[in-house]
Amino acid sequence: MMNWDRSQTIALAKTTCAHCHGYGLRPGRYDREVPCNCVFRAIFRVCYLRFRDCTNRDRHLSRVRLEFCNGKDNRLTYGRKVEEYIADFCLVSRNALSPLEYDIFRFHYLLGADWKLCCWRLVVDRGTFFHIIYKIEQKLGRVFRELEPHSLFPLDEYFGGTMSNDRPSRTVAMVPKRAPARVLRPPVGLSAA
Ligand SMILES: [Zn+2]
Repeated sequence: MMNWDRSQTIALAKTTCAHCHGYGLRPGRYDREVPCNCVFRAIFRVCYLRFRDCTNRDRHLSRVRLEFCNGKDNRLTYGRKVEEYIADFCLVSRNALSPLEYDIFRFHYLLGADWKLCCWRLVVDRGTFFHIIYKIEQKLGRVFRELEPHSLFPLDEYFGGTMSNDRPSRTVAMVPKRAPARVLRPPVGLSAA
């Protein structure tokens, strides 16, 4: 089980949260402090915003690939990471959610249907819909952060330096800052060398 401390949660917690009062941790079992659900929802929302950003960007990827596939431009690397992120976001969510949760996730977050359309299509009432939305965001926020060996959050670790062109070595850029012992995927392209 991963360790959470206040320095991680306080930046994500909702300042007006009635459960953690903006600290992001609350008392759990065995006198341990556990992350508050508002922290998980915040993580979900950060990841979801990046997902939407990536799907918008992906429309332009084929052009980018044509322009840079013969060069050494890091934008191509970033493009691959974007594609991987989109796939991971969808797959991890599908694996983590129950069938009803996944239906709501798909309609609302992936296809952009509002609550009225979702309620009509899935035959649930408004209260149930928002209750499940809360559960989805909490569940996925935790999974996105705790996923091994390769968490989606924090995003700067996931995207590991691929956004800028000033780092010549991708191997160095892939090393995570906080968890050096974690097993990593080999950098793309190096495994066949
Ligand atoms: Zn809270």
